[in-house]
Amino acid sequence: MLSSEELERYSRHFLIDGWDRSCQLKLKNSCVFIAGAGGLGNPASMYLAAAGVGKIIICDMDSVELSNLNRQILYTMNDINLSKAESACTRLKGINPSSEIIPLNKKIEDAVDMISGSDLILDCLDNFTSRLFLNSVSHTNRIPMVHAGVSGYYGQLTFIIPGSTPCLNCFISENTQASSQAITGAMAGIAGSMQAIEALKFLTGTGEVLAGKLLFIDCMTMSFSTMKMTKKPGCKTCS
Ligand SMILES: [Zn+2]
Repeated sequence: MLSSEELERYSRHFLIDGWDRSCQLKLKNSCVFIAGAGGLGNPASMYLAAAGVGKIIICDMDSVELSNLNRQILYTMNDINLSKAESACTRLKGINPSSEIIPLNKKIEDAVDMISGSDLILDCLDNFTSRLFLNSVSHTNRIPMVHAGVSGYYGQLTFIIPGSTPCLNCFISENTQASSQAITGAMAGIAGSMQAIEALKFLTGTGEVLAGKLLFIDCMTMSFSTMKMTKKPGCKTCS
């Protein structure tokens, strides 16, 4: 059941084609695991909390630094040196007190039990070692995962369905594992917001997710392109 307050809070959703009260209830009963509370995880978690996702687990072992504030819009100067997961939890509860927010101040590698109980994973990480670990947990537990990556004015996005689409390991080669630290805040905002959109479509059953396709976002020229992905023969994770 949705309360009268929830019906008012989400009233604009019910004007979207195909999004009815049952879709909103699906969101309320969903659990999303957000790996990384940085440039991607901030906007993604804010939009998912605002949209009414019932349970959000946000995992990050880092503390807020001054150099994070060009893009990590959940945090303010008052959060510097505090746990990102805890600070994010406080802000997200302020956005939507009816969402249960669980902060995990730990490494992804130590959060497998929490990941395995979720309906969807958001890969908002910034290094490929942890991304590939998350990819293997997604595959083993058959939990879909929305991947995004950003660098400078560029971003990429895909929706991975274990057993159906290519996995992250299929298109990330071992020699592209060095992450760039160049980033504009708004670029992370675009990609993180797109992760939230993919999550909302998947959880409500509206629209069509980016399954098996890789979206390239080039904000330097403001152009978007999509390519079909193929499974890597002999992929160590999914073949
Ligand atoms: Zn694979």
